[in-house]
Amino acid sequence: MMSSFRGLFAGLMLIAILVMPSPAAADFNQWVREFWPTARANGISEQTFNRAFANVAPDPSVIKAASHQAEFVKPIWEYLDSAVSDKRVANGRRMKAQHSRVLDAVEAKYGVDRHVLLAIWGMESSYGAVLDNPRIVKPVIRSLATLAYQGGRRSRFGREQLIAALKILERRDITPERMTGSWAGAMGHTQFIPTTFNAYAVDFDGDGRRDIWSNVADALGSTAHYLRRSGWEPGKTWGYEVVLPEGFNYALADRKTRRSLAEWSKFGIKRTRNRDFPRLDDQAMLIVPAGANGPAFLMLKNFNAILRYNNATSYAIGVGHLADRIRGGSGFAQSWPRGDTPLTRTQRRELQQVLTSRGFSLGDIDGKIGPKTQAAIRAFQKSQGLIPDGYASLMLLQRLQSGS
Ligand code: CA
Repeated sequence: MMSSFRGLFAGLMLIAILVMPSPAAADFNQWVREFWPTARANGISEQTFNRAFANVAPDPSVIKAASHQAEFVKPIWEYLDSAVSDKRVANGRRMKAQHSRVLDAVEAKYGVDRHVLLAIWGMESSYGAVLDNPRIVKPVIRSLATLAYQGGRRSRFGREQLIAALKILERRDITPERMTGSWAGAMGHTQFIPTTFNAYAVDFDGDGRRDIWSNVADALGSTAHYLRRSGWEPGKTWGYEVVLPEGFNYALADRKTRRSLAEWSKFGIKRTRNRDFPRLDDQAMLIVPAGANGPAFLMLKNFNAILRYNNATSYAIGVGHLADRIRGGSGFAQSWPRGDTPLTRTQRRELQQVLTSRGFSLGDIDGKIGPKTQAAIRAFQKSQGLIPDGYASLMLLQRLQSGS
């Protein structure tokens, strides 16, 4: 009697050990319980919440991706080589023919150039091709809950996006199983994060659901709506590749001062391949992404609408250029300084230290090439009889370090 009781007790202990979650899972489940009142206060039903978090555990691959900080910056020309590859241009033209009716309708409603929509689609998901790749595409609730739960610098972003994602589920736009995205929660053909989805996604085909995961009309309609609300001006382009004259004052390439194309023309700036500007009163800013030895661009207001989608100059130039190529345009007229690599994070600090020690003051040594650092670089370049373009490159750092 006694021994069988002991045996039963041992058996119960074993069962308890088998069903008891690991400490990490217990912590996460506790966190989910503590998150529930926040979700409820944001209008999420218990049914939606429980279904969203069924069998969800933290994703180690998300923690790894979130903690990664790039030391090496890819040169813009390498980025553009892959972003605007011949294959992506050819696929874009194929998609343009295949989805011409949808593109007609989207363009008519929002006034956004179809080639720009195709380019964003190509840049974001290779026209949907990456959405089948499980290494890239993960369950969104799991990714965002991982970011929110693990703490750190992306925790607030994770919480905010998690609430937005639950709202999408509450509206029944998509099921939890089909709501997939990048490790940071960018979803579907055109990679909307949940807050962007809630603000701008549209049900373009009218079936009652906003489905940017498998419905091309909804995805392209949502992107056009977002660009239009971000200030897209119908009938205009994103920008022009231009040639700067000898002795040009590169301090004017500050990425923010807007002048009319007529005014820029007075500085001797011309479009490449002897083309004219269609409207001389359009306002533009000047960008010289790789210094005096690379291409220069006058950017119209629509360039900023693309930046609202993804706030990186190389991305927005990539979208604009891919759009032009899909339309039938050729590559850039000017070449990139492929022999002169951009600086790593550590090297940018070194550059600032050497400039400061040689008397070219620039404020804080923060590894960021802002207006003050550019001004210091220009002053150094002038003192050396170089073209004062303010561009931070490895050649410049080596010249500074050699003490010449
Ligand atoms: Ca729909």
